Amino acid sequence: ATPAATMVGTAIGARNGVLFRGGDILERVRDAEAVVFDKTGTLTAGEMTLTDVVALAPADGGVAPDGGTLDAPYGPVEAPDKAAVLRYAAAAETASEHPLAEAVVEGARERGLDLPDADAFENVPGKGVRATVEGREVLVGNRALLGESGVDPTPAADAMERIESEGKTAMLVSVDGRVVGVVADADTVKPSAREAVAALRERGTTVHMLTGDNERTARAVAGQVGIDPDNVRAGVLPEEKADAIEDLQADGTRALMVGDGVNDAPALATAFVGIAIGSGTDVAIEAADVTLMRSDPADVLKAVRISEGTLAKVR
Ligand code: ADP
Ligand code: MG
Repeated sequence: ATPAATMVGTAIGARNGVLFRGGDILERVRDAEAVVFDKTGTLTAGEMTLTDVVALAPADGGVAPDGGTLDAPYGPVEAPDKAAVLRYAAAAETASEHPLAEAVVEGARERGLDLPDADAFENVPGKGVRATVEGREVLVGNRALLGESGVDPTPAADAMERIESEGKTAMLVSVDGRVVGVVADADTVKPSAREAVAALRERGTTVHMLTGDNERTARAVAGQVGIDPDNVRAGVLPEEKADAIEDLQADGTRALMVGDGVNDAPALATAFVGIAIGSGTDVAIEAADVTLMRSDPADVLKAVRISEGTLAKVR
């Protein structure tokens, strides 16, 4: 870009809440062939609410007849009811800052559960948490977390699949090496996400989604925003997000990555161009070439249009 085009583009961007960091960034944004959105906090609001608690009956591995109610007194964990499952899960999650964890803890408190203290808290990035609650080893997280801990998640398979196909994030709860139930959080898709995806696709840009969340949830959310299920990469660990971008770019595809989290920083730096959502973490913003002052996916489209417009007009 000429210095004039850069100045004009940068100024128009700033007025529209799109901060370009440097001149050739305009060209990169214009020339991107694929846009890769992180799911949580980027396409979705990232504001989780507890939606489901499932207690598994120990004998047949199915869902307990009435599963207990959240107001009922919780029984011993050998015959878990919903309140017991939620109480253990929330106690283990208390020390976690993950949005999934915060929603579980808040959901438990709203339902009047008294949460015991947890010891030996351990955060397992991209998988969940591990803690000791009332002397019992509690795990809350995905299949990979239980898998690496030698806990069989199959008794919860039906509940997990049902909840995930509704686009919610389901978390397995295990106590002393046995899966006792499932808790789930739901997030809401940002109102402008669907339109932004449609406009990008119309322009000939392929649109992808990258997430640490599981395949079924990711596909359900992709369906809601109009992303082709073939373009969904799910179950990507934080340290693998940059590799996923490298894979996509291996054939020379110029990828524009949009993300918000600490997890996304390496991917933002690896992509041909990286856009950080304004509400995102400082780490993501540092790694990005463009920052959106609002947290609106439609502003990705705005960035593309501004780059096209100024580069075409100002020479
Ligand atoms: P994303 O890429 O969607 O921002 P993360 O990489 O942070 O997600 O997490 C990926 C998955 O790991 C989550 O969908 C969840 O299944 C599990 N997970 C991560 N942190 C926690 C937690 N604190 N409690 C329960 N599950 C968690
Ligand atoms: Mg995110």
